[in-house]
Amino acid sequence: MPLNDKTTIKNFINGEWMHDSMDGSLTNYDPATGQPYGNLPNATQDTIDLSVEVANNVFSDWKNTGVQERANHLWKIASLIEKYAHELAKAECIDNGKPLSLCERIDIPRAAANFKFFAQAIISFHEQAYQSGNTVFNYTANQPLGVVATISPWNLPLYLFTWKIAPALATGNTVVAKPSEITPMTAFLLSKIVKEAGLPDGVLNIVHGEGLLTGEALVNHPLVKAVSFTGSTRAGKRIAQVVAPQFKKFSLEMGGKNAMLIFEDVQIDKAVDLAVRAAFTNQGQICLCASRILVHEKIYESFKQAFVKKVQSLKVGDPFEAETHQGALVSAQHYEKILKAIQTAKDEKGVLLTGGEAIHPEGRCKKGWFVQPTVFEGLAMHSITNQEEIFGPVVTLQPFSDTEEAIQSANQSHYGLACTIMTNDISKAHFVAQSVEVGIVWVNTWLYRDLRTPFGGMKNSGVGREGGSDAFEFFTEKKNITIQY
Ligand code: NAD
Repeated sequence: MPLNDKTTIKNFINGEWMHDSMDGSLTNYDPATGQPYGNLPNATQDTIDLSVEVANNVFSDWKNTGVQERANHLWKIASLIEKYAHELAKAECIDNGKPLSLCERIDIPRAAANFKFFAQAIISFHEQAYQSGNTVFNYTANQPLGVVATISPWNLPLYLFTWKIAPALATGNTVVAKPSEITPMTAFLLSKIVKEAGLPDGVLNIVHGEGLLTGEALVNHPLVKAVSFTGSTRAGKRIAQVVAPQFKKFSLEMGGKNAMLIFEDVQIDKAVDLAVRAAFTNQGQICLCASRILVHEKIYESFKQAFVKKVQSLKVGDPFEAETHQGALVSAQHYEKILKAIQTAKDEKGVLLTGGEAIHPEGRCKKGWFVQPTVFEGLAMHSITNQEEIFGPVVTLQPFSDTEEAIQSANQSHYGLACTIMTNDISKAHFVAQSVEVGIVWVNTWLYRDLRTPFGGMKNSGVGREGGSDAFEFFTEKKNITIQY
């Protein structure tokens, strides 16, 4: 199956593409034009049963495949992602609405990097051993779990899809993976890559469909031993309700309402550059985007002016154009949600500093789902706008008078994913970093990721950590073995 044959998306089970007659059909849209351009299955229980059974049948063989051979398979997949990078980037851009330049720079290279990183990491992953007295020896085996389910969202489609699959396969599990039904295309293309790479049939199965139908059937299946989920807090809560009583392992990476704290000693132009990037990359549709920007009162006015000016210079439009900074929002539903959030901010008496409107670019994108990058000020920290995740190009600015107030405001949230701190005062940076209730802190940078570091949030943002050895811990069960000799 050549990579450019992508008319109808099909489930990938046991190395074959299939569409069960019982599966319904969903429509796939191009957000930049607002037009449908394909279909995908809405997989039902029978399809899920088949995919899990197939994965279960090949588990023993895959588990017993040598670690170097498993790593070689991951390397091969990575090199094919690189070979087809341009086609994948184009497909991601059409499916998601994000700028092609972003897909080429981040989404697709990072998908390849995920496979390379975990291929390399599994080779150097070591297990513990303890000599306990003269004649007693302990070692701890980290055994794969069996069939695991991975469920991912639409905002970084291939990037987050592969972030879960790679460590699951590296540790010897077999996988049934479900991408978002809103952005299924690159997951479908990955099935072709996996086939070309020669991964044994059934080791990775990719199913398509809605969360409540396909997703829930998958996480609920008795042979699924663990669920790795990234998505909304609402869906994460539902998944926890389904899988916790079955005592399955689960890892939940969920929503965020991240603060950026800008102290008075920073260089304003650098702070503005970082804040604009943190607020509006990927149309603000990254769980790590800063949506509450808090600025020390001494520099608030000058920061505000420079920030608004820079936001107004962002070009919103056709994601295929090289100079576009901000593409389309992912779906009609999400577009409506963002416009509603803007209206809520206005109703809450927020002061609109820039943006606030939908955009209808000339030409092929005139029916696409575009919204101006939008900035409000004057909203209390307890307002709906500052408390609920918007997940779009909408941010608020507010001043703070001292470090204590900055920390308090940052922590005034049900979410606890990430926080960015900008200061040149090293003591303050450490103090604030230790005080904010989040899983990820960046000081004077944003979105810098070393794949060895733990990734995840606290409070309503997550349960568990992904990345590096945390991912390997999640996808394995420890077994301690004590030997008297
Ligand atoms: P979503 O929760 O609607 O969907 C995510 C995935 O879960 C999809 O594949 C969906 O089909 C599936 N799903 C939904 N309900 C399910 C159920 N009951 N059982 C099984 N599967 C189900 O999220 P979304 O709208 O696709 O993504 C946006 C959200 O993801 C935002 O809240 C964002 O913050 C979050 N996110 C978090 C991270 C992180 O690392 N913390 C990263 C990216 C996105």
